[in-house]
Amino acid sequence: MKRKLLLTMLLASGFCAANAQEKAKPEDTEVYSPVPPEIKPGKKCGEAPSDAIVLFDGHNLDQWVMADDRNAPAKWTVNKGILTVNKQSGNIETQRTFTNYQLHIEWQVPSNITGSGQARGNSGIFLASLGKGDAGYELQILDSYNNKTYTNGQAGSIYKQFVPLANPTLPPGEWQTYDVIWTAPVFGSDGTLVFPAKVTVLFNGVLVQNGVELKGPTQYIGTPAYRQPHGASPIKLQAHGDKSEPLSFRNIWVREI
Ligand code: MG
Repeated sequence: MKRKLLLTMLLASGFCAANAQEKAKPEDTEVYSPVPPEIKPGKKCGEAPSDAIVLFDGHNLDQWVMADDRNAPAKWTVNKGILTVNKQSGNIETQRTFTNYQLHIEWQVPSNITGSGQARGNSGIFLASLGKGDAGYELQILDSYNNKTYTNGQAGSIYKQFVPLANPTLPPGEWQTYDVIWTAPVFGSDGTLVFPAKVTVLFNGVLVQNGVELKGPTQYIGTPAYRQPHGASPIKLQAHGDKSEPLSFRNIWVREI
């Protein structure tokens, strides 16, 4: 008896579902609002789209300050449309702060680069700068063209957390691109972590980080962890202390998400 009842119920529910499907129209699932904003993409590869905040377009460092003294203008060199690291002056970071964003940045290891391992064309992008020194979440920049080092410290790595999925590094002297989608960590009102930071990175158009969830800010020594809650943060570029020739940057822009 019980089995017969169950069978009757199943048949009836199946019939109802099929009936509802017949009545559904294509337009039931068509969305007309909100309408995505119309923007103009960059004309050339790497050029900022119309709604981007341009952080460096070859002219000046108005958008940048010294990371160790946010009242001081950035002391890196701008020459012939290119920004070059000044290792003596230290890290620079944006005036503005950001939460979630899309970042485009191009970098070049000089063709006369010397050194090896981490001491060859080392710089980095701190996707959220958390104060002085190297504090923050570092997307590594390094000459990883025929240059061995630990894999979670090569170009395209989230330093000492995530090895890149591939190594598309071009030889020194060529321009390389990073396109980054950054989702900032979310902290509760009591300061505890609700959602970790998340990042996707395309390196010379190749996916190298696919929505990885960061374990915390970058740690040179020890295990990363979210120890301090924070909000919107600047984006910082690293003046690494190694003795190799300094890197250059161009076409830096960001779109807030
Ligand atoms: Mg670095």
